[in-house]
Amino acid sequence: MEKSILIVEDETAIADTLAYALTTDGFSPHHVTLGQAALDFLRSAESPRPALIVLDVGLPDMSGFEVCRRLRQFSDTPVIFLTARSDEIDRIVGLEIGADDYVTKPFSPRELVARIRAVLRRLQANNPVTAITQFELRTDEGRVSYYGQNLLLTRYEYLLLKTMIDRPGHLFSRAQLMDLVWTNAPETLERTVDAHVKALRAKLRLINSEDDPIQTHRGMGYSLVAK
Ligand code: CA
Repeated sequence: MEKSILIVEDETAIADTLAYALTTDGFSPHHVTLGQAALDFLRSAESPRPALIVLDVGLPDMSGFEVCRRLRQFSDTPVIFLTARSDEIDRIVGLEIGADDYVTKPFSPRELVARIRAVLRRLQANNPVTAITQFELRTDEGRVSYYGQNLLLTRYEYLLLKTMIDRPGHLFSRAQLMDLVWTNAPETLERTVDAHVKALRAKLRLINSEDDPIQTHRGMGYSLVAK
């Protein structure tokens, strides 16, 4: 499947050139011109999950740094910054803003595509695909497929499932899952875990009603049954 790349750039000419180079190279580009539109795109369950984001620093509504800071609260998708100014490069390099690379304007689209490939290769090497028969977890893209079908998950459903896929058969107590999954949430209740497991089960059942891979251990917690 073609990897989707999100381009966040207010200069249409630059975005068009890049989108063309990406398409030629076998990627599927999506373009938005505003920071808020990028965040909305990334949050929407209907959007294809991008493998990488090309993010202009100078956007009309908020800086690319701010977009990156906000998206890091819910996404690990790699970011390559586009920048026109050397003082911005200092910030990208000097601060921990979660960028994977940057390219200065004017840039050659071919060079940028090569950088994108390099970042994706590096991630792939660090995060090999985890596959236990019925699930395939791609941490580099934040995606899980189940019996070959992509699951559309909320952030917590994804983290919950990922945690369990990482340790098939392990019995997680609700308290453990709250610690591991809801790390930044101030108030989580045990029934929050139950509610998410229920929602997750419903999504899994839609794909395969025969399998119920999340096992409930009464009074103890949950585990994932690998087939
Ligand atoms: Ca700009």
